[in-house]
Amino acid sequence: MNPLLYDVIVVGGGHAGAEASSAAARLGLKTALLTMDRFAIGRMSCNPAIGGVGKGQIVRDIDALGGIMGIISDQAGIQFRMLNSSKGPAVWGPRAQQDMALYSELVRTNLESTVNLDILEGTLNFLEKQGEKWGLKDDQDREFLSKAVIITSGTFLRGLMHTGESQSTGGRVGEKSAEVLSASLFKLNLKLWRLKTGTPSRLEASSIDYSAVEEQPGDSVIYPFSYRSKKPPQNHASCWLTRTTAHTHDILRTGFNRSPLFKGVIQGLGPRYCPSIEDKVNRFPERLSHHLFLEPEGLNSNRIYVNGFSSSLPAEIQEAALRSIPGLEKCNILQIGYAVEYDAIDANQLYSTMECRANPGLYFAGQVNGTSGYEEAAGQGLIAGINAAHKILGRAAYVPGRADSYIGVMLDDLVHMKIDEPYRMFTSRAEYRLFLRYDNAATRLMSKGFEIGLIDRDTFQKFSDSNKKIYSIHKQLSDYLLRKEVANPLLEKTSSKPLEESVRAIGLLKRPGIELEPLLKICEIENNLDWVETLQLQAEELYEGFYKRQSQEIDRQRRMEGLKIPFDFDFLKAEAVSIEARQKLNAARPLNLGEAKGIAGVRPADISALIYYLDKG
Ligand SMILES: Cc1cc2nc3c(=O)[nH]c(=O)nc-3n(C[C@H](O)[C@H](O)[C@H](O)COP(=O)(O)OP(=O)(O)OC[C@H]3O[C@@H](n4cnc5c(N)ncnc54)[C@H](O)[C@@H]3O)c2cc1C
Repeated sequence: MNPLLYDVIVVGGGHAGAEASSAAARLGLKTALLTMDRFAIGRMSCNPAIGGVGKGQIVRDIDALGGIMGIISDQAGIQFRMLNSSKGPAVWGPRAQQDMALYSELVRTNLESTVNLDILEGTLNFLEKQGEKWGLKDDQDREFLSKAVIITSGTFLRGLMHTGESQSTGGRVGEKSAEVLSASLFKLNLKLWRLKTGTPSRLEASSIDYSAVEEQPGDSVIYPFSYRSKKPPQNHASCWLTRTTAHTHDILRTGFNRSPLFKGVIQGLGPRYCPSIEDKVNRFPERLSHHLFLEPEGLNSNRIYVNGFSSSLPAEIQEAALRSIPGLEKCNILQIGYAVEYDAIDANQLYSTMECRANPGLYFAGQVNGTSGYEEAAGQGLIAGINAAHKILGRAAYVPGRADSYIGVMLDDLVHMKIDEPYRMFTSRAEYRLFLRYDNAATRLMSKGFEIGLIDRDTFQKFSDSNKKIYSIHKQLSDYLLRKEVANPLLEKTSSKPLEESVRAIGLLKRPGIELEPLLKICEIENNLDWVETLQLQAEELYEGFYKRQSQEIDRQRRMEGLKIPFDFDFLKAEAVSIEARQKLNAARPLNLGEAKGIAGVRPADISALIYYLDKG
């Protein structure tokens, strides 16, 4: 039988695969999405929510570049909250509880209606280079030839699930693992390692005593993820808060000697920031209680996800511990918590385009690159899809930088950092986080999304009009000389220092607590901005001072990239550079700073230190 011919084959229909296949197909490439189960496309393996601090910004970045996660999350969202809203807007994180079944259905139907995209059910077993192309074979003995392949296998490569002493193969509960593909990757000399993640029990919603738990409704003001959402999303559901007790911890401790984690049966590295409940009890014995969030999996679902209670202890221990928690005394467990170990690749073997350095045309994205989380996976998938398409079309690679987006921070970290646990996004990873806000994603990235061809003309026009509106209000406030008699009553209300003389109205937005709406009112300027535009104008004024300094630093770093490094420069003597980076630099001997930045193991802090030595020299 002749092989099926494609430009791009994406393997795996999770969050990375959905973005990768959508992007490649919409850029005009003949694309196939080869995935085990069509009805598992876009499935949420763990928590029924999209976004959060750092992650919500990634979803906005994806949306501004023309990806699909944001718009689908708005449609399938059932409860919306802005996390960290008591802090500055730079660290706000939008999060939306999802109707999981609807989310998955919307992703599948979106891909099914994408032109140039074939969805094929099957498991990729074999992969090898055949001349300039990649030859693939699936479990039905179908053969494929493709110019580019994007592997997005999630937790499925040799997936092994654990609950107590019992183990079974599978990528996640109820789904088989991909047992054979790792062998092809080994053959390509790729470095693989074992990682681990875990998930909590799911409870029957009607078995919970809601009088004993605290309701957490959605926010009254909803911040959508997508610039392109036509209807504002709505809250349809609440979550609930409860806590473990000292008795819960005692019960959990009785299972420690049967824990696959503590007994060393699980070899894979797990995420420290997202520990299992047994890990939390073990590591923090002084804490007598841990918060748990009870989250509905959907509007028509009777399943509740117990956020914070991920576990791989024996089922009867998990069950007894859950029943010791207020509100859960009579809970009915529909699915017990488990951990899964899987093969991932060392992402240091990739370029920031997600293409494998040693295997041109082969890309990896998502959990298989050692990350954790739907949003991180989707961000990588989008970049891999764009770059696979660009390479085939003969266009320049597109890699967003650390100063442009959280996606850029993640790509740079993945290919440079030595990762010793599944990587997830935190705002602290972004040195330019005051720039990388939720509200200004379109300003940072949408012109790129339009240029690439994933943002349509109407959306781009809407964005340009919005910029004009923001500029006009900014100009009016900058021109407006505000008298102290008019301003001081407003300043008093927010306990801000009164004015002693007239000032330009715009300056007041730099004061914490001063909002745009009342300021415009006292200046008698008509407000035609929506809430995201309002937020953007306010945040930009609030951070203006930092913004200028950071812009200078970003410009300096960009100029420095061309800075030559002398042939005889002794990297090993540059003591302010980390030991790992010194060794890597010494081995690679880059000729300029741009090249030095591209070496795996060399971090932004090492580059800053190197600039110091070069300046001195
Ligand atoms: C038990 C568990 C717990 C988790 N806990 C958390 C958590 O607490 N926090 C968090 O942020 N994230 C968690 N995750 C991770 C989260 O699910 C992933 O980060 C996210 O789904 C990764 O997306 P992905 O697209 O990379 O892979 P996935 O969503 O896993 O999708 C992979 C897809 O590839 C397909 N596939 C795999 N191999 C092949 C093959 N050879 N041929 C064809 N198709 C193939 C699969 O069928 C699947 O559709 C957890 C995952 C699991 C399974």
